[in-house]
Amino acid sequence: MHRTLQKYFGYSEFRPLQEDIINDVLNKKDTFVLMPTGGGKSICYQIPALMMDGIAIVVSPLISLMKDQVDGLVSNGISAAYLNSTLSHREVQETTRAILDGNLKILYVAPERLCMKSTLDLLSYVNVSLFAIDEAHCISQWGHDFRPEYHRLGFLKEKFPDVPVIGLTATATPKVKDDTIKLLKLKSPSVYVASFNRSNLTYDIRPKKDSYGDLVKYIQGQAGNSGIIYCNSRKSVESISKKLNNKGFHTLPYHAGLSDSKRHEHQERFIRDDVDIIVATVAFGMGIDKPNVRFVIHYDLPKNIEGYYQETGRGGRDGLECECILYFSRGDWYKIKYFIDQMSKKSERDIATVKLRDMIDYCESTTCRRKVLLSYFGEELESDYCGGCDVCLKPRDTFDASDAARTLLSCVDEVNERFGMTHIVDIISGSMAKKIKSYKHDRLKSHGTGDGYSKSEWLDMAREMVRLGYLDVKGARYPLLSLNKKSREILAGGEVYLTRSSDAVSVKASRAKRN
Ligand code: ADP
Ligand code: ZN
Repeated sequence: MHRTLQKYFGYSEFRPLQEDIINDVLNKKDTFVLMPTGGGKSICYQIPALMMDGIAIVVSPLISLMKDQVDGLVSNGISAAYLNSTLSHREVQETTRAILDGNLKILYVAPERLCMKSTLDLLSYVNVSLFAIDEAHCISQWGHDFRPEYHRLGFLKEKFPDVPVIGLTATATPKVKDDTIKLLKLKSPSVYVASFNRSNLTYDIRPKKDSYGDLVKYIQGQAGNSGIIYCNSRKSVESISKKLNNKGFHTLPYHAGLSDSKRHEHQERFIRDDVDIIVATVAFGMGIDKPNVRFVIHYDLPKNIEGYYQETGRGGRDGLECECILYFSRGDWYKIKYFIDQMSKKSERDIATVKLRDMIDYCESTTCRRKVLLSYFGEELESDYCGGCDVCLKPRDTFDASDAARTLLSCVDEVNERFGMTHIVDIISGSMAKKIKSYKHDRLKSHGTGDGYSKSEWLDMAREMVRLGYLDVKGARYPLLSLNKKSREILAGGEVYLTRSSDAVSVKASRAKRN
């Protein structure tokens, strides 16, 4: 095993778990591997493939990466090939020949290709050593990129009961893990779960207000460092990239609306450090292994934690520090919620809603980010203090906000719970805007009762009150503030403590100071 590792890959030692996994596969045991990206999953099936008789079949959804993967193996002296829709008829014939002649150790196939009768017939003539299912979570509807063509893969265990199947993924909650094992029909599998903690990443959630200004300030301090800025829409990718370039930063956009060649070019230039920053939608990053990414910014709210974890996980591959900043706003939440509500399938809508809720909980949590993140993946972090997230490093002061809370709640009451947060804050801030006047809200008792705090402080307090359950938000499209039992208690004289964030300290700076 060590000799194979050394001979074909040039490494002298195994990483954690690799050796045990390889042993199990060599013993023809079904195996499930959950390991973060970059953890070294490939070797777990490539080494058994080289050591066992016959040909190993690797199922991968990433057709665009197959060629690179195979080229890499071939240059290491491994006889590998792939079958997918990009090949010409002649190339398919050549590969088929090589398979039948027993000249290949590893064959990559797309799932839809594997399920074709011609492919299955072909495999019935040869000795298959193992099936490796890469990105195995794609089989589960609970995974964040369910692929229908993965759904049939359960038949492998039926058709080839004696061939070990090894499912691998970098992203699975306990639920997806169980679902995947079940759907692949693995027989009493060995299950390996590597730690998902990326200790060199710091997590920082910032309020999304003046986020563009904050972003500019942040990257000014990152001279020459490589970073990714994720946005939710092509439009904002284009506009942020352009604005930053006008300010003198070197950025390139990346999204599915660009031509294949443009996308490829931009990605390559980023990987080669020809350009510092790539501004991208989540279309960017699959299979990219750039070691020196020093910051990953989510300019908009991600739709779920799996995606967020994967995207931040593209930072700090070299083991050095990487800052992950997310700008959080409720506005983004409502936007995404709106899109989810438009989804036609109820089952998909429900799953997406739960996942979005988990994402919000993560952003609004006042416990260590790393702890919340890891517990999402079923991993327990012992300490409540990771020393590498905004919650741990920027502790917030609380203050008695009972009077302020009553001011706000009284106003909600006075307008009969029929207005949104901004409007309420406008009223108590004494705004004379047209909208206020048209409702005659300048004549309310609450009008102008909120001096002592700025409008943005009021908005922060209102949001925190919603978060803490002192106030409800109703109505999906036009969120209206409404009172609940707790609000009534406060109005009757109850106490409320809210937090004041000690603003504008970067997590990295506070971390450096403490170390
Ligand atoms: P994953 O598929 O889990 O994202 P890869 O299999 O692509 O990860 O491995 C990530 C990187 O780590 C690759 O460059 C790989 O060559 C390297 N690697 C894997 N195993 C070892 C090892 N035992 N020692 C050193 N480097 C390794
Ligand atoms: Zn922490």
